[in-house]
Formats: sequence, C-alpha cells, structure tokens
Amino acid sequence: MEEKKNRLQTLYDDFESDAAPYKTEAACGKGCAFCCSDAGSIHITTLEGLVIRDRVGRLPRSRQVAVKKTLAADMKLREHEKPSACPFLMKNRACMIYAWRPLVCRRIYSLKVCSRDQHPVLSRQVMAMGDEAIRALQQLDDSGYSGHLSFILHMLDTPAFISTYLAGEYRPESVMVFGKTHGILINRLMGQAGENFRP
Ligand code: SF4
Repeated sequence: MEEKKNRLQTLYDDFESDAAPYKTEAACGKGCAFCCSDAGSIHITTLEGLVIRDRVGRLPRSRQVAVKKTLAADMKLREHEKPSACPFLMKNRACMIYAWRPLVCRRIYSLKVCSRDQHPVLSRQVMAMGDEAIRALQQLDDSGYSGHLSFILHMLDTPAFISTYLAGEYRPESVMVFGKTHGILINRLMGQAGENFRP
C-alpha cells in the first residue's frame, strides 16, 4: 500500500505540473471557497481516502474528534439529500487538507470569479486532463472504490472493510449494501468500462 501511496503522489504531481500553464488564468484566490461550500458530491477513491485518513490521524486528539463529528454530520445530511459544505472547509475558508486534497478538487478552478449567479467556469483542457488522471487513479486503486468523501472515509473506518482493503483483497460483495444506498462505485469496473466519475 505504501508503494500505491507513492504512486498517487506522483500522479498528483504530474497532474499539477501539466495543469500549471492553464491555471495562470484562474480567477480563484485564497479564501474563495465557493466550490467547497456549495459542494456537490466530492468523489474520492479509497486510496485518496486512506491518505486523508492518515493525515487526520496525525492531528491533535481534539481536532480529530471535531473532524469526525463534521464528517458524520455531512454523511447524515447527504443521506437525506441535503446540501452540505465540505467537512474539511475551515472557518477561515481554507482547506484543512490542502496538500492532500483529492484529484477532483485539484482539477477544479474557475476562469471567472464565482458568485451566486456565476458558477465556476471550468477549463475544458484541465477537466480532460483530470478525467485521464482519475482513470489512472482508479486503475492504480483497482481493489478499491470511489464515492463521496465522507462515505469513503466511513468505509475506511469500518474494521472489516479496512482490513480487507489493506490486504489488497477485492471483495465488492462485502460493500454491496452500503454501496448501493450511497452511490459507491467499484474502481475495477469503472476502469474496465472506461468510465469515470464527475462531481
Ligand atoms: S477537500 Fe479541501 S479543496 Fe476539496 S472541497 Fe474540501 S475544503 Fe475544498
């Protein structure tokens, strides 16, 4: 799994360097968290979730407890199809896990300043690069799954699931019930179908 985590970091680095020339036109600035506060589904893979989980586990205990509460609240809201800001968006409108944020967040930036009436204007080229990187990521994490961030982190916090996943075993039947009700995708099948997810 450490090898996979290293390859994930390389994938992030390659994507950032390929997208950098396009991002010079971005209107996004520090403190603008339109995409994070008006967040649709924030789809991540289990491998990305594992890295985020490790990082959360290094926070002071009190912050870990606060993050868990926010994640649980997000999960509940989304189960009732209610809007919810990203659980990692802090009060100062910065991302708590910026260095480890998932690929779906890395590929989204706007060419125009966002507002209630102006939704993000995305770069087609960067979205296409992001699609390709996500396909590569799903192939890398081919015994894993994709889904909304708090759902994937919940799965990783389930002892039976994490032990199967860390052992590299592929047992989709074990997540079938939760998967069906929470829109969880099987990476291996997505890769075979040449499909992808979009937030
Ligand atoms: S992980 Fe960070 S960048 Fe992504 S939606 Fe959440 S706060 Fe925003």
